[in-house]
Amino acid sequence: MQKLHGIAVSPGVAIGEVLVMDNEGFRIPRRFVARNVVEDELTRLDRAIQAAGEEIERNRQSVSEQLGDQYAAIFSAQLQMLQDHHLRGELESMIRQRHYSPEYAISRALRRYAKVFESLGGSTIPERANDIYDIEKKLLRHMLGRKREELAHLTSPVLVLAHNLTPSETANLNPKFVLGFATETGGPGSHTAIVAEGMGIPAVVGTGPFLSDVSGGETVVIDGDHGLVILDPDEETIAHYRHEADEHRSLAAKLAQLSDLPAETADGTRIELLGNIEFPHEVEQLKRHGSDGLGLYRTEFLYMGCESEPSEENHFEAYASVVRALGDQPVVIRTLDLGADKLPSMPVPEDERNPFLGLRSIRLSLRNTELFRVQLRAILRASALGNVRIMFPLISTIRELRQAKAVLADVMEDLDEEGIPFNRSVPVGMMVEVPSVVVMMDRFVDEIDFFSIGTNDLIQYTLAVDRSNKDVAGLYTASDPSIIRLIDMAIKTADAAGVPISMCGQMSGSSKYTMLLIGLGLRIFSVTPSAIPEVKSVCRSVTMDYCREVAARVLALDNARDIRNYLKKELQKTAPELFA
Ligand code: PEP
Ligand code: MG
Repeated sequence: MQKLHGIAVSPGVAIGEVLVMDNEGFRIPRRFVARNVVEDELTRLDRAIQAAGEEIERNRQSVSEQLGDQYAAIFSAQLQMLQDHHLRGELESMIRQRHYSPEYAISRALRRYAKVFESLGGSTIPERANDIYDIEKKLLRHMLGRKREELAHLTSPVLVLAHNLTPSETANLNPKFVLGFATETGGPGSHTAIVAEGMGIPAVVGTGPFLSDVSGGETVVIDGDHGLVILDPDEETIAHYRHEADEHRSLAAKLAQLSDLPAETADGTRIELLGNIEFPHEVEQLKRHGSDGLGLYRTEFLYMGCESEPSEENHFEAYASVVRALGDQPVVIRTLDLGADKLPSMPVPEDERNPFLGLRSIRLSLRNTELFRVQLRAILRASALGNVRIMFPLISTIRELRQAKAVLADVMEDLDEEGIPFNRSVPVGMMVEVPSVVVMMDRFVDEIDFFSIGTNDLIQYTLAVDRSNKDVAGLYTASDPSIIRLIDMAIKTADAAGVPISMCGQMSGSSKYTMLLIGLGLRIFSVTPSAIPEVKSVCRSVTMDYCREVAARVLALDNARDIRNYLKKELQKTAPELFA
């Protein structure tokens, strides 16, 4: 048994057989071959060894011509290892005697060789291990050919272990078959994490390297509550986690009973509880959990996994289906927040060294007004069907907001001329996710109909910490006093001007912050659909006076750890059932 510590990003427990995607995205199944196909499988193996050998030889020759024989020696060593009779013999006996598939045999044997080199230490040894992993990859590439496509076509339940999963790969996972996932890289605020939570898949990211210790088909536990991945768990550990999974199910069943009740404090203050979605079908979850509407539609996911740009009709159909499903409830459609970790198959700008500080989000839309106008036309058309609101992401200056509004006004004029119906007074809001906006909030209030605080980015830009980098994950927290002060300032300024303000960052869906946020004056929460029952249950257990006291105490503290511990204790007192 081996326990790995990562970052818990999506709650719940998953136990089962794993599917391993290495960092080139190959799936390495634990598959056994029938006795009567052993000879065919050996032929397949030999063909792969030959093809990999030819590939290495080509590399050797090209490096030798360009740089000289001493550099080409790396490839000669690889070739020698690949063509080693012992290796071929070991693979053959695994296939003949243990009936392993050649892919599985290659991965088992070569990973064991690499481990031996790694365990020896010394400066040149890791290079040798890397050479062996390289041979494994080459052989698998020749055996398996294509990459990653199998993730979308699973037929039995698995836990996915990968070096990395992009947000769009995560969004394409089928929750019916993917019971959980863990990745070596990734940070707490990454969109991969957010999508996993939205899909209700237990997930752990940022564990550091471990894929070479595990093979497809082995049993693993993913503990999305505590950020643990347990390889080869013993019986006792499995029994413990089965019990945890049962507890999760019974808590979910208990909380489900709240779905028809409003989010209201024990002394009668109504909290508006909205949901965040990435895809139209998630609206069903919002309805099931009894939300008050849609507070953040991340429309950029329309682009994920698409080869071509969505047309105006594609946009319109997506928005119209959401609006129709929610009747007269609010539907906040955020304009495209593309870029940084949400990149569709578009060319990446040259020189984009700091993608989170570069041409992303509203900046990208204002630079590509044609693309922006297509989306705005579709949103405006959908506004004729229900309670639609438009929200601009990542505004950092007043001028940027004015530019976005000017494009919107222009598109409205076009629709008028074409006689296409839309809501002329559609509310226009903006995200508060850059500290400059909080500093300038008293000026923004005159130009906007509503605000929504995006803590995922606000934390990243305030504390100068990349939301998707595991190595600085310890700094990435909504409990930092600077974040809480900024939220306090934003709410006070918006309230004083009578402009509605909500929060749609992940902080609003974490029940340990519910009392604090209510105490700071937040009345509109927009959360991951799966978090609605828990947040609603906390709202219904507290009084306004109590929440104000919690907020006052937190504002007096000066560091994240004390704030986190205090909030955890308060939640334990108020809602002990969440900790059962
Ligand atoms: C945020 O930044 O808090 C937010 C809600 O937007 P996203 O997570 O999509 O960047
Ligand atoms: Mg954001």
